[in-house]
Amino acid sequence: MTRIAIIGGGIGGLTTGIALKKAGFDPVLYERAPQFGEVGAGISLSPNAVKGLVSIGLNDFLESTANEPLHQLLFHGLTGEILQDINREKCRDQYGGPYLQMHRADLMDGLVDAFGTSNCRMAKALRGLSQDEAQVELRFEDDTTETADIVIGVDGLRSVIRDILFDTPEPEFSGHVAWRALIPGDKLGPRATERTNVNHIGAGQNLVTYPVRGTKLVNLVALTRADGWVEESWNAKASPAELATVFAGWTDYVTEAIAAIGEDDLYRWGLFIRSPLKQWVKGRVALLGDAAHPMLPYMGQGASSAIEDGIVLGRCFAANSDPIEALKMYENARVERAAFLQAESNLGGDRLQAMDPYVLRDNPPKNEDALGIFKYDPASVELA
Ligand SMILES: Cc1cc2nc3c(=O)[nH]c(=O)nc-3n(C[C@H](O)[C@H](O)[C@H](O)COP(=O)(O)OP(=O)(O)OC[C@H]3O[C@@H](n4cnc5c(N)ncnc54)[C@H](O)[C@@H]3O)c2cc1C
Repeated sequence: MTRIAIIGGGIGGLTTGIALKKAGFDPVLYERAPQFGEVGAGISLSPNAVKGLVSIGLNDFLESTANEPLHQLLFHGLTGEILQDINREKCRDQYGGPYLQMHRADLMDGLVDAFGTSNCRMAKALRGLSQDEAQVELRFEDDTTETADIVIGVDGLRSVIRDILFDTPEPEFSGHVAWRALIPGDKLGPRATERTNVNHIGAGQNLVTYPVRGTKLVNLVALTRADGWVEESWNAKASPAELATVFAGWTDYVTEAIAAIGEDDLYRWGLFIRSPLKQWVKGRVALLGDAAHPMLPYMGQGASSAIEDGIVLGRCFAANSDPIEALKMYENARVERAAFLQAESNLGGDRLQAMDPYVLRDNPPKNEDALGIFKYDPASVELA
């Protein structure tokens, strides 16, 4: 059987592992961290991703763990006027899958359970690799080596494998900053825990809340702009008072949500981007997820597109007895779709945070619906 190594145990790597197991393979996953983990935050899974996860057996897990928002409401950040009410309840009928939101740690738990831990090698940070016609040699920071027939690089935005395969520029600060916190649901008013995604919009910044784990927690994400990123780390603890200053004069809802953030519970992330890649495969090695196509989070498509990649990759291996042909089929099927999502997501901030929020009321933006993003089904899209 083809020996497949997956490097990186985030949402993309684990989904790929489950999809390959479903296709009859027995991949081994190497993760740099000593244990699986995710940032303390929520995540949206749009119908395109949910259809993929359902196809690899995660339906019951998602139905019992995730929240399904019925509406996405866009408000003017200063006046509180409603700018748009997007019905998300219709997604099941319209796109063949629901729009879901959940705690990232819960999603990771479900993926780890489905993949199993017997083929997970933790605290294995890849340092280098080389390949010849027969196999790939993997070299780890702990001075050990392993071999595999095929390697899938799912090692994130700052991918070592991308750097080894392709000579592309380093990630660049995008000018966008994300602030994230989880707030106990009972510290906020009823609107924050309704089955709604609440988005307050203003010039150059916006603030989103939605409940996760039923109504127990509320995920808060604020997206703002900055001229540069001077923190040593690309994510750092931040003070709620600082965020309150950035959103001074916004609605009571926004002010109260920020006031409810625990002193130690707010993190600030500099968002970095990389130029699109036309090629993701070299010989026996392929990129997947953020390693191949990192994007700004304005459409919630980063993890969703990594899930799409993983599902399609599994199907390509099921359809080809030659693994090199499977990788070519994967690249053909995915590069254009991911480049489209990457480009539209990166433009999404300028559309959403328009100088005049009324533009969003008067000219419905090019959002995920208008762009047809949710129609895609990685479990049935044609492969050639
Ligand atoms: C503020 C914000 C909000 C977001 N919201 C959403 C959302 O709502 N919906 C959505 O779909 N997406 C969202 N995203 C994007 C999403 O989080 C990412 O696109 C997604 O997590 C990428 O998954 P990945 O598995 O490709 O990479 P990662 O999650 O980065 O995982 C990479 C893994 O590889 C490991 N690794 C790295 N280097 C090595 C190495 N050398 N050797 C071994 N292991 C290694 C890492 O430890 C990590 O576990 C958001 C992003 C941000 C910043």
